[in-house]
Amino acid sequence: SFHRILKDEIEEGDHLGQGTRTNIYCGTLKVKNDDDGDAEYISPQEMKVVLKVLGAGHRDISLAFFETASMMRQVSHKHIVLLYGVCVRNQDNIMVEEFVQHGPLDQFLKNYSPLSTSWKFQVAKQLASALSYLEDKRLVHGFVCAKNILLAREGLAKDEEGPFIKLSDPGIPITVLSREECVHRIPWIAPECVKNSSSLGVAADKWGFGTTLWEICYDGEVPLKDKTLTEKERFYETESQLATPDYKELAKLMTQCMNYDPKKRPFFRAIVRDLDMLEEDNHGFKTQPQKMVD
Ligand code: ATP
Ligand code: MG
Repeated sequence: SFHRILKDEIEEGDHLGQGTRTNIYCGTLKVKNDDDGDAEYISPQEMKVVLKVLGAGHRDISLAFFETASMMRQVSHKHIVLLYGVCVRNQDNIMVEEFVQHGPLDQFLKNYSPLSTSWKFQVAKQLASALSYLEDKRLVHGFVCAKNILLAREGLAKDEEGPFIKLSDPGIPITVLSREECVHRIPWIAPECVKNSSSLGVAADKWGFGTTLWEICYDGEVPLKDKTLTEKERFYETESQLATPDYKELAKLMTQCMNYDPKKRPFFRAIVRDLDMLEEDNHGFKTQPQKMVD
């Protein structure tokens, strides 16, 4: 169900980092044009891409890796990273994705702190719109966090439009991760998924969204960063909550998303609406519903 990319169509560049069981490289994708015998010769196009490589040592989870690829192939949204296809290169399985210029949001929040409230609202709204799209398609992302959000436009300059984000793929699904790896993902992973990773559903992305909202609010601080794995487990067992910002309305939205009962978390459509209203309040102009003039 996904486009196959031949191994000689990609070229591997610099190592960008390590994901869960994967290695990430930048690279180029050479799109060959069909030689249909036309007189005009069109040179092959080259695109900067990201190669997410699942190495030979992890072939036991390649099926799960392809599950992620297949989910990503079903989506087409301006705020979700584009997956060009999958490449099998000898023993490696590779996802070939759109390269997003300004890197992950968590780093960006730290480096450019403090960012304006309006900048943060735009990022939150774009993420909520991407997740609302997935919810409508009944697709689950599974690892919503600031690290998995990439910036296509920084939106810092006065004459520039605001930020523009792209939600990256979730990587290896949690269903094949160890319990320890799942516990490590507290407080992003939803509590029901730590208990049983197969209870991963759309509701889990709402919890992850809540945690990501927290990261955005607190300028890329890492929630529960000083906690040990045991303490993290304990945090969920006791149904604890992260400290919420003074901004009451935003705190309320976060708490709603991070409800321990997955059924009680709001629809993303409602979250988008709430964020719109909060943003307007924040700018000091409460809009009244327009009355029809007759
Ligand atoms: P995980 O499964 O834990 O999310 P991952 O394989 O997705 O792991 P990340 O940690 O999200 O890996 O990404 C590693 C690094 O690669 C990021 O910090 C980021 O700098 C870079 N990166 C990932 N995807 C892209 C992309 N599409 N464009 C540019 N850089 C990227
Ligand atoms: Mg990632």
